[in-house]
Amino acid sequence: MAIKQNKQMKKHVVTSLFLATLVVSYSASAQQKGDPAATEYYTPVPKVVTPGKNQAPPSDAIVLFDGSNLDHWVSAAHPEQPAQWTLSDEQGMTVNKKAGDIQTKDKFTDFQLHIEYRIPSNITGSGQARGNSGIFLASVPGGAGGYELQVLDNYNNSTYVNGQAGSIYKQNPPLVNPCLPPGQWQSYDVVWTAPRFAADGSLVSPARVTAFLNGVLVQNNFILKGDTPYIGQPAYHAHGPAPIKLQAHGDKSEPISYRNIWLRNL
Ligand code: MG
Repeated sequence: MAIKQNKQMKKHVVTSLFLATLVVSYSASAQQKGDPAATEYYTPVPKVVTPGKNQAPPSDAIVLFDGSNLDHWVSAAHPEQPAQWTLSDEQGMTVNKKAGDIQTKDKFTDFQLHIEYRIPSNITGSGQARGNSGIFLASVPGGAGGYELQVLDNYNNSTYVNGQAGSIYKQNPPLVNPCLPPGQWQSYDVVWTAPRFAADGSLVSPARVTAFLNGVLVQNNFILKGDTPYIGQPAYHAHGPAPIKLQAHGDKSEPISYRNIWLRNL
């Protein structure tokens, strides 16, 4: 008797589910009248891009540094001279503080950038004087020399928050602090929209940046107030396509290294 009841109950449940599905399907189709093809289009077809594995460049990227040479880089102070940073198999390119900042030979406007850095495990110093470098998303003559996404060792090292790693220097702190301990490679993935200027030099649209540090969002479409000076207020100075610059900071701490730098023009 109990078995018969159980079978009847199962049959009832199945029938109820079927009816409920019918009602949902009917109400969904009743709400969506018209031609679905009216809102679908087929051109232009997005270009096929093969993604890279393990942070390797996608097929359409410009490789700015793969560890083998500094051919894409020059001295920032003397762009006619080669970049004099140190190359090695394990460390990629290491900052040469005496040689100063380096920048790309090529100029860019809007882009997606991938770059990795390593604070040496024997790093010393504190605050801003501990593994300080920086990625200038556009290297611009005059003013602060561009727009700096800060590189610094902020694993258990505090400083002013709008100057820690992941900040747009002196403008906007990172949303969180995802820094890894010294000795490990860390990665930035950045989307940069350059500012636009009118022929008279006035600002048409400000720069915007989205950045991930170690895969964690630290800048979410932040609108820049201008360049990133050490002292004083940000300001815009009209420019066009510009190189990307890496900072050789003058602090006394051990120099940091960069590797696996690639970019996609947007
Ligand atoms: Mg810096």
